[in-house]
Amino acid sequence: MDNVDIQFDAKHIWHPYTSMCQPIPAYPIVEAHGAELIMADGKKLIDGMSSWWATIHGYNHPVLNQAVTTQLAKMSHVMFGGITHPPAVNLCKQLVAITPEPLECVFLADSGSVAVEVALKMALQYWQAKGEKRQRILTLRHGYHGDTFGAMAVCDPDNSMHGLYKGYLPPHIFVEAPQCGFYDEWDSADLHPLEVQLAENSDKIAAIILEPIVQGAGGMRIYHPEYLKGVRHLCDQYGLLLIADEIATGFGRTGKLFACHHADISPDIMCLGKALTGGYMTLSATLTTRHVAETISNGEAGCFMHGPTFMGNPLACAVADASLSLLLNSPWQKIIATIEQQLKAELMPLISHPSVADVRVLGAIGVIEMKQPVNTAALQKVFVENGVWVRPFGKLIYVMPPYIITPEQLSKVTNAMAKVLG
Ligand code: PMP
Repeated sequence: MDNVDIQFDAKHIWHPYTSMCQPIPAYPIVEAHGAELIMADGKKLIDGMSSWWATIHGYNHPVLNQAVTTQLAKMSHVMFGGITHPPAVNLCKQLVAITPEPLECVFLADSGSVAVEVALKMALQYWQAKGEKRQRILTLRHGYHGDTFGAMAVCDPDNSMHGLYKGYLPPHIFVEAPQCGFYDEWDSADLHPLEVQLAENSDKIAAIILEPIVQGAGGMRIYHPEYLKGVRHLCDQYGLLLIADEIATGFGRTGKLFACHHADISPDIMCLGKALTGGYMTLSATLTTRHVAETISNGEAGCFMHGPTFMGNPLACAVADASLSLLLNSPWQKIIATIEQQLKAELMPLISHPSVADVRVLGAIGVIEMKQPVNTAALQKVFVENGVWVRPFGKLIYVMPPYIITPEQLSKVTNAMAKVLG
């Protein structure tokens, strides 16, 4: 087994959202296969996180490995300015075919956050091209869209970094998040805060951005499809662009290929990332309609002003193309419905635990919301002792396992979740 210098790591390497003075422990993982992470001492952990929504087919998948190695032998990278290549074209053909109908122009970029930056820039350039000064974005409380400046500015102002970066972030418009849960009876009063804002400010607003159906890192809230339908309707009424951030929800995670399908709506711009490459490497895609793309292109700039160095990276596109084929050629609806049933059966009873505020399940997502914030490091230790990888945050102990997890492995994960409740 490989040795991992944990002391060097703790002293010199920053981990996500972690102190350099008192880092929470980082566990050494040296291999990963299927739904298992292998620690340096050989201990196996069943993965409940899909490495943050990404590794839907599990780790070290032979088909995805092959896609990477085949492409590696041909060309690992080439600039995308003035050049195109089969992996990008093949991937974009698939993306155009499977996303809601009017989305047909694809911008490939590096990460989810950059996909959001691209989407926001598309919305701003769209209005600029139309000769209207609309620079505000409307979004929901409890939203999360990434860590770069544009994306941060549309994250929930209370549980994100707005306080720290006050003055740098453009002030956008936030409305109350929907209150009706996915399975609740719909109450159209949920749309009222949005209706009020639009009635007052719609002429300043370029777009509405939201995470369809599941608000992820901002609270793992699962809301009613009628809300999303209502938002689409209001965008049409006021002529605003709707940006759907499907970076976490895309590729079957909620039980539909895209969460927008729960409400039968199409956004004007859609952001994809995370599971796009089956979790093999970073890549994102921002799709838009011909109308938006042409409006931007006929504007003053004559083009869309973005072009990252690693745009359309062939390795990433090749593995994304293979990952999509793998998903679409599998009975993914049935697989995810089975995971959903098991998560419901094994997690819902935990609602009666005195420390638990709520339990929510949709597709291959299971969430326990605690009444009090949890101690991430302490809980993670217990999960590891129980042979499971789960990373709680805030009041949330949640899982989104790889779709290839077996019922036995998933039970081990849910048993460990029950165990950490005490
Ligand atoms: N949008 C959503 C909904 C996300 O969940 C995330 C990542 N957690 C992002 C955007 C940002 O993606 P990335 O971390 O790849 O920049």
